[in-house]
Amino acid sequence: MKKKILIVVTALVVCAALVTGGVFGGLYASLSNRLKISNELTELSGEYENVILLIGDGMGPNHMKAGEAVYGRDFEMRTRALMTGEAMTFSRALVGPTDSAASATALSTGVKVDNGEVARHKGENIKSNMELAIEKGMSTGVIAAEGVKGATPAGFSAHANDRNDLDDILETQLVSKIDLFMGGAKEYYDEYKAKIEGAGYKYFTDMKDFDNSADKLWGAFETIETDSAKAVSDTPTLAEISVEAIKYLDEKSGDNGFFLMIEESYIDKMSHNNDMDGMLSHMLAYNETVNAVVDLAEEMGDTLVIATADHETGGLQYNGEAASELNDKMFTKEHHTKANVPYFIYSKLDGVPETLNNTQIAYICRYYINNRPAA
Ligand SMILES: [Zn+2]
Repeated sequence: MKKKILIVVTALVVCAALVTGGVFGGLYASLSNRLKISNELTELSGEYENVILLIGDGMGPNHMKAGEAVYGRDFEMRTRALMTGEAMTFSRALVGPTDSAASATALSTGVKVDNGEVARHKGENIKSNMELAIEKGMSTGVIAAEGVKGATPAGFSAHANDRNDLDDILETQLVSKIDLFMGGAKEYYDEYKAKIEGAGYKYFTDMKDFDNSADKLWGAFETIETDSAKAVSDTPTLAEISVEAIKYLDEKSGDNGFFLMIEESYIDKMSHNNDMDGMLSHMLAYNETVNAVVDLAEEMGDTLVIATADHETGGLQYNGEAASELNDKMFTKEHHTKANVPYFIYSKLDGVPETLNNTQIAYICRYYINNRPAA
């Protein structure tokens, strides 16, 4: 009897091992195949002096549609784009969606890493487009509504084993040679004021103190206001600080061009909380920012602008509801999903497919950082 039980148990264990091994083996094979997708876009051509990438953290296609229901018309982010499609966001995670650190790294370096890693994989730094732009003599800037310690801005301006290693993130940002950092989290950065100034940045917390003549700028505000009617100089809007940053970088770079990343951070956070009204206010602020940036880019000329997202958050469902019908229950999850996210390009580029890998957005930025008109 005992022998029989032993045989059955052994058989069960072997079966379980085979099934698990098969499932994980299959997952592993599908991941390594996905990681082999080429990022090259061989038909890109032409030159741009400046490159601006905007990221709506957590913005899936339904976040846009719900926002447009409130806005009463299509977003300018959509209508002004000359090319549009969707981007795949997966990281190296075998199961489950990407986090913002891995997706920022993909968008900034063109390399897929594990969730949590910040422009670094298994302890090795990965060169970001920001670093390439600095090498090329371009001016550079990083802006984030939540503050530049967040995983998304960090993926463009820092290197760290983990997004929570905030000291490593700040230390690497301070020696990054990036000309401008701006965002929220004043309370956090006030404690590091001396250190930030020691690294050569002019530290300011009110737009009245934005100094166009400063060599490097570090702005940290109490909060980034979503409603332009309520914004004042120490709680400005994302659109406002982005416009000032672009003017500063354009002036500073002369003919060398600049590379700027702008993140609206709270579409994600509000979606984690399944807070529809909160999400919508940030969705509208993101559209306002993209619109203002495209206005300025058209005025300056020679500027490539791309707007996208890093992943979808909240599994938001939208089935044509009117503005008054939108509610928190339309979120079906409290975390990120694998849904593709929209991308919008405000120029006509050759050979960009409708469905992109997010690393190909990094490829496009890199291509135009490398291909600029002679200064
Ligand atoms: Zn998130």
